[in-house]
Amino acid sequence: MTYTGPIKGLLLDLDGTLYHGTRMIPGADRLIGQLIEQNIPFRYVTNNSSLTPGAFADRLQGMGIPATAKEVCTSAEAAAAYIAKVKPRANVFVIGESGLRQAAEEAGLTIVEEGADFVVQGIDRELSYDKIAKAVEQLLGGAESILTNPDLLLPSEHGLRPGAGSIGAMIQAASGKVPTVIGKPSTILMNFALNSLGVSASQSWVVGDNLATDIAAGKAAGCGTVLVLTGLTTADNLESYAAKAGCRPDVICADLEALSSYITERNGQ
Ligand SMILES: [Mg+2]
Repeated sequence: MTYTGPIKGLLLDLDGTLYHGTRMIPGADRLIGQLIEQNIPFRYVTNNSSLTPGAFADRLQGMGIPATAKEVCTSAEAAAAYIAKVKPRANVFVIGESGLRQAAEEAGLTIVEEGADFVVQGIDRELSYDKIAKAVEQLLGGAESILTNPDLLLPSEHGLRPGAGSIGAMIQAASGKVPTVIGKPSTILMNFALNSLGVSASQSWVVGDNLATDIAAGKAAGCGTVLVLTGLTTADNLESYAAKAGCRPDVICADLEALSSYITERNGQ
């Protein structure tokens, strides 16, 4: 893909790209202000299924970054929309937090304890052996397996913690069922976000700090890709991460100021 025209839309990663935990990355507020001022539509796109879009918007606003719930696309919403498309009003067994439960309900799915058509699983910090046992029972009984995001580790104030993908590995080992993955690097979340954005893939750019998820997903969806060195990837580990991910970004920006300048240059403003 070589699209040389202006950037018509942006899909922005959150953690490591616009903030670290509760701390805004310098320039994030100005970047979003610029997009609003220049009428460039954007969506915040996160693999994190734990919170609702409204809760993410509140978190962003709390840091001084303009955001509305409509502008946030989570793997939980994309998972619920995917299931509702395959089987409207499906029965689902949920391992997850409020973001995933609310997304399932809003998509018209019925949350059940048994007789599930789908097991949908995300991060669940109140996970128990009983929940795993019930999920495996449903899968062995014929339910389809859906994983919100494959991230094995999750950054937290206490360092790295097991992520949704680690819980998924346990369920997959026990059930023998390979899940359909929704979050980045899957194109399911990207296509959900592009649909919400209303801009074609080739005129949209994915911005993120992770080659294996953000950049790989952007490439797979046919979008332009910008790697920012604000989080996981640094100038020092870039080459080894690119080799591991098997992909390279179209553009690398050291920080969000450099990204703002790139957009200005590209869009001729
Ligand atoms: Mg990130």
